[in-house]
Amino acid sequence: MLRSFIHEQHLLGFPGSRVVLGATVEDAGFDPRVTVGGLGEVLSAGVELAPGLAGATVVETRVGLRPVTADGLPMIGAVAGGVVVATGLGAYGLTAGPYAGLLAAELALGLRPSLDVAPYSPGRTPRAGASSAS
Ligand SMILES: Cc1cc2nc3c(=O)[nH]c(=O)nc-3n(C[C@H](O)[C@H](O)[C@H](O)COP(=O)(O)OP(=O)(O)OC[C@H]3O[C@@H](n4cnc5c(N)ncnc54)[C@H](O)[C@@H]3O)c2cc1C
Repeated sequence: MLRSFIHEQHLLGFPGSRVVLGATVEDAGFDPRVTVGGLGEVLSAGVELAPGLAGATVVETRVGLRPVTADGLPMIGAVAGGVVVATGLGAYGLTAGPYAGLLAAELALGLRPSLDVAPYSPGRTPRAGASSAS
């Protein structure tokens, strides 16, 4: 089951009565800590939706990042030394990652990429007024 409730938060059920609650959306930089505020927000929203969870055991907590660039667009292209990067997919990396990987592989092999990657150049000048929120 996948059900959205408050903002970006969701509840997923797995076999064995395991439930995953997620997630906060924070501009946290590279800080991978589980914070009291973040955990409280997620647990409160989960119990509000499913009160029976109040007696459940917290088995583990995890942190993930949604890497974004200054202008919100991904970076796909070569940088110094011929290294090809494909990053900055923000909240859509799971969905768009495989295609970004294909484009990166094409670039690394010296092939013409199947999509014009010029807008995603790592060396681009960020667009004025663009958002970096994820
Ligand atoms: C709670 C949550 C829910 C999400 N839901 C979705 C969704 O429904 N759909 C969707 O499309 N996307 C979703 N995303 C976004 C998706 O997970 C990211 O966009 C994607 O993981 C980004 O992939 P990446 O390879 O760029 O970075 P990452 O997955 O962050 O991979 C970077 C890797 O580099 C490693 N690393 C970092 N620094 C170093 C270093 N100095 N040396 C060596 N290794 C290093 C890290 O350990 C990590 O393994 C979600 C993200 C979160 C956090």
